[in-house]
Amino acid sequence: MKSFTKHLWFETEDRIQFINITQKVNQIIKESGIKEGLVLVNAMHITASVYINDAESGLINDYKKWLKKIVPLNEKYEHNMTGEDNAYAHLMRTIMGREAVVAVTKNKLDLGPWEQIYYAEFDGQRRKRVMVKIIGE
Ligand code: ZN
Repeated sequence: MKSFTKHLWFETEDRIQFINITQKVNQIIKESGIKEGLVLVNAMHITASVYINDAESGLINDYKKWLKKIVPLNEKYEHNMTGEDNAYAHLMRTIMGREAVVAVTKNKLDLGPWEQIYYAEFDGQRRKRVMVKIIGE
């Protein structure tokens, strides 16, 4: 069994921003030479998520509105009394998840017809990364 690891780096323009990383993950799989196996894609930070869903721009805006409804940005959070201001970002990360695991078939992501891998940043405008680890043959 082989394994191959690479990191993707991001510094978003907005504090909350969603980025489609499907092509970047496919490039890393190609580079790995692994034909059959699994790929793990995970945010290395507790205020960002990796999730799989549709790339439709209306849906991306719906996610942002829905998250702000569940997790209001200006709530009196205890975490923010420690001098931080990102309690909402920790909570949004828990809702949207930490990672995605996808089958690798014939040296490519084996996704459903509308599935795309997204990096969701909730406390951006600074350098953060996502790990991509592929295992297989
Ligand atoms: Zn924090």
